[in-house]
Amino acid sequence: MSKTIYDVMILGAGASGMMCAAQLNEQSDLSVLVIEGNERAGKKLKISGGGKCNITNVNVTASNYMGDEQLIESVFAQFSKDDLLTWLANRGLKPVIRKEQYYFCPKSSDEIISILASASQKSHYHYNHTIKSLTKVNIDGKAYFSVTTSKGTHRAKKLVIATGAKSYASVGATDIGVTLAEQLDHSSKPFMPALAGLTLQPQAFWMKELSGISFPAEITVEGKVLSEDILLTHRGLSGPVVLSTSLYWSKGEVEINFLPYTSIKEVMHNNRKLLSTALSLPKRFTQALLEVLQIKDKPCASYKAEELNTLEKAFHHYKLSPAGTYGFAQAEVCKGGVKTDTINSWTLESNIVENLYFAGEVLDVTGELGGYNFQWAFSSAVVVANNMVQK
Ligand SMILES: Cc1cc2nc3c(=O)[nH]c(=O)nc-3n(C[C@H](O)[C@H](O)[C@H](O)COP(=O)(O)OP(=O)(O)OC[C@H]3O[C@@H](n4cnc5c(N)ncnc54)[C@H](O)[C@@H]3O)c2cc1C
Repeated sequence: MSKTIYDVMILGAGASGMMCAAQLNEQSDLSVLVIEGNERAGKKLKISGGGKCNITNVNVTASNYMGDEQLIESVFAQFSKDDLLTWLANRGLKPVIRKEQYYFCPKSSDEIISILASASQKSHYHYNHTIKSLTKVNIDGKAYFSVTTSKGTHRAKKLVIATGAKSYASVGATDIGVTLAEQLDHSSKPFMPALAGLTLQPQAFWMKELSGISFPAEITVEGKVLSEDILLTHRGLSGPVVLSTSLYWSKGEVEINFLPYTSIKEVMHNNRKLLSTALSLPKRFTQALLEVLQIKDKPCASYKAEELNTLEKAFHHYKLSPAGTYGFAQAEVCKGGVKTDTINSWTLESNIVENLYFAGEVLDVTGELGGYNFQWAFSSAVVVANNMVQK
């Protein structure tokens, strides 16, 4: 057992753990130990956004997340998207905007990782330490957290659980955070894959034949209307709009608008072109959907009213019942996690155990695709650090 008793121990050196350590180091002289199972910090950051890390989004509101709205708003009121961009700019990183909404690292994820590493260099990082268990111990009448890892036991006055969620186990992800929280009387919602592709039921298998085709679409799921590109794959559906759909979908139907920016009836009116040529969709897609509908591809103006109605329903209101998701191995995040009803929504400190804090994806807060999950990880980490320093 290490003799040192740290002021703060942070479990997990991912996005939230590193940001929390950085903020504590910059705002205080508290001694900080960060425990990480991998051989280095920020492995999900490294692979994120195709290696360029989609850090945040132009529009960040609580409505882009699944979770307690009031808690999410309170966190962003303390450290917003603009605060994050300023924090990064002050350290030399100016993210670039893609598709008018996503902020990415200009060159590589290494840029943000090295800023976080440098800002948190006063912290002690213990790598290759797999976290096993957590207890509260009493020494000379004072309460401490005692964390046992594969390499020993470490103690601290305050503890931050920042171990993320269990999707993408290939980069060290586990559900240890939920297990530890439950050991200290917190309850949780089971982790489920989110921001993952959706698999299909047999009646929609025709889409698998069109693997590789991508175009803008709009999906309505649980009352939410999401717009972005859809990608047809050999497994089912993917692409940004589908990944965000998987956050809100758990069972039942979703509705797809394959032509969100035009009205099929208007395009077809007095139009002599073949339908498959007239629509702003990949020709193969239109032909395949017509085949499913058992409607011929012919000049638009020659369709009868009844056929027009069928086409409108199919192209603008296609009902799809997904079979499931691509699963944890390929999900970018998990929904579920430690329930927030026993967490102070201003400080993110546990209402059950004093000096126990949570940051990042381990909490039951999950964002849509588009930088929302890093924004949450960073904002929640700063909130924890600032409130810890002020206490
Ligand atoms: C492929 C991929 C791409 C993504 N792209 C984006 C993107 O572009 N934009 C975006 O906003 N989000 C993206 N995400 C989601 C984002 O990576 C996570 O939401 C974010 O990393 C969560 O931060 P966190 O600090 O809570 O957890 P993590 O960053 O996952 O950090 C948790 C840390 O805890 C460590 N840990 C876990 N269990 C143990 C244990 N038992 N012992 C020791 N250490 C442990 C892990 O090794 C990890 O380093 C992506 C995710 C994936 C998988």
